[in-house]
Amino acid sequence: MKIWFVVPAAGSGRRLGGDIPKQYLALAGKRVVEHTLERLLTLAPAGAVVAVSAGDTLWPTLAISRHPLVRTAAGGAERADSVANALALLAGEAAGDDWVLVHDVARPCVRVADIELLIQRLENSPVGGILAAPVSDTLKRVSATRAIEGTEDRSRLWAAMTPQMFRYGLLTRALAAALDQGSKPTDEAMAVELLGYSPLVVEGHRDNIKITRREDLAIAETILHWQQRQRTTSGVAE
Ligand code: C5P
Repeated sequence: MKIWFVVPAAGSGRRLGGDIPKQYLALAGKRVVEHTLERLLTLAPAGAVVAVSAGDTLWPTLAISRHPLVRTAAGGAERADSVANALALLAGEAAGDDWVLVHDVARPCVRVADIELLIQRLENSPVGGILAAPVSDTLKRVSATRAIEGTEDRSRLWAAMTPQMFRYGLLTRALAAALDQGSKPTDEAMAVELLGYSPLVVEGHRDNIKITRREDLAIAETILHWQQRQRTTSGVAE
């Protein structure tokens, strides 16, 4: 079974503040993007396409950008455009039924074992699916003035994570259709849902956090050290 990784890394990371996009921030002795790609590359994919912004001068300076399995695509205005560009780079090389795993560059703590579980659970699925976790917080719907309007029933709500795993052909069609309709899917599953399919969720560990705000860097650092300790003591958490 052939798998490809697509890593959207063209976000501005504005919520984190500062001049440097979040994927280049220092985290436990490396940059965020290096942690993320090193984990993905241990799964021996056919290739990993990283979508970066046109003005990104840092990416080409990193040794990992020249790794034999790593390729670079142009980022787009929205995440879906970045992923579509990365898929277009594989046209003619990826087969329609090859699997593509799209993974946020800002999720450097993903467990390799969770990605293996995702692949194992979905390899015979006609549609594909995503790593996700049931929500544990009580969710409030609020007005523009931040007054609570209601409480959601959380019993069937899951938080979408990445990787998100779909066949190359289906994902390419789904993103093209979503972009054509002017919708801005915030993840790949949403584009596939818009075509009428029902992707599956596979439960992943909650330490697969997305670095979004500055405090997330400290949390990610703690997670990486904790995972390292788990690996050396019991062989889990990876
Ligand atoms: O902004 P957010 O954290 O939701 O972005 C999720 C992922 O999508 C990040 O890895 C980010 O770099 C990527 N992205 C992108 N192109 C954009 C916007 C976001 O590749 N135009």
